[in-house]
Amino acid sequence: MRLAPSVSFEFFPPAQPKAEAQFWDGIDRLAPLGPDFVSLTYGAGGSARERNDRVVRALLRRGDISIAAHLTCAGASRSELDELVRGWAAAGLKQLVALRGDAPGHATAFVPHPQGYQSTAEFVGALRRIADFDISVAAYPECHPQAVSPAADLDNLKRKLDAGAARAITQFFFEPECFLRFRDRALAAGINRPIVPGVLPIFDFPKVVEFSRRCRASVPSWLAVRFEGLDGDAETSLLLAATTAGELCGRLRAEGVEAFHFYTLNRAALTHAICRSLGLSPSAPAAEEAA
Ligand SMILES: Cc1cc2nc3c(=O)[nH]c(=O)nc-3n(C[C@H](O)[C@H](O)[C@H](O)COP(=O)(O)OP(=O)(O)OC[C@H]3O[C@@H](n4cnc5c(N)ncnc54)[C@H](O)[C@@H]3O)c2cc1C
Repeated sequence: MRLAPSVSFEFFPPAQPKAEAQFWDGIDRLAPLGPDFVSLTYGAGGSARERNDRVVRALLRRGDISIAAHLTCAGASRSELDELVRGWAAAGLKQLVALRGDAPGHATAFVPHPQGYQSTAEFVGALRRIADFDISVAAYPECHPQAVSPAADLDNLKRKLDAGAARAITQFFFEPECFLRFRDRALAAGINRPIVPGVLPIFDFPKVVEFSRRCRASVPSWLAVRFEGLDGDAETSLLLAATTAGELCGRLRAEGVEAFHFYTLNRAALTHAICRSLGLSPSAPAAEEAA
């Protein structure tokens, strides 16, 4: 029998008390599926930063799942970032998702902080010197909007991996071929670390369209047809979202992909259903542990 794939789950730190309950319920629901790690996104602003630190530490105290804390280097000095990371390492953190982040408002191109890291590759190297972290970095199957060219984007990814990152996690995409072509190009460029597809279950189609426009991920016309006229029909939308993500994962698995990163948006039920359809359950742990 084919083993279930490895999975990781991305959450964001909840801002409101009601969202807090939903967040912890989501962690409780997905933790028994045996993810490689649960990752927590990072917001660089003042209150977001404090919230982030609090939730990272609370997740570490649970002790039943591996936690990967996202961290962006834009807009912060080296010493601020190093101090934060040393504190997390002392609290037991072993995994990071190292990112550049964006300028506030996303309006302008990245300008490094005067005392900050000059690039994400430099940031990755520095993090590895602080502790023996397992580090993931971001990759863009449809090219990062600020990249000079797809080739330059791949060079940048290679620099981040060569600096010590263990794997890349991709921006979401909806056509399997989009990921598979990217994986081929990465291999041809000498990238041999794992590239894990980022899967975005479509909780709210109009929002996904808007978000995709901002990060220049394409939304195929067949997908728009699939969700057409369902804006007020949450029940049908959810069923379709599970089917759509399940199909995507199935087609990628047929091409040898055995690890998936889910952007849960703190809505665990949908990701849970998709993982169940991939063969994961509390009694059927993910690939590595089951071997
Ligand atoms: C898996 C994943 C998780 C994420 N998590 C978070 C998060 O928790 N918090 C958050 O704020 N954001 C997050 N992001 C978004 C990310 O911060 C943005 O996409 C950001 O614009 C780029 O970050 P990066 O680490 O990919 O950048 P990089 O890899 O450093 O750069 C991206 C591209 O920009 C080009 N580039 C870099 N510097 C310059 C420059 N000076 N001039 C021109 N081009 C340049 C690079 O060559 C590359 O092509 C995430 C993205 C992904 C895919």
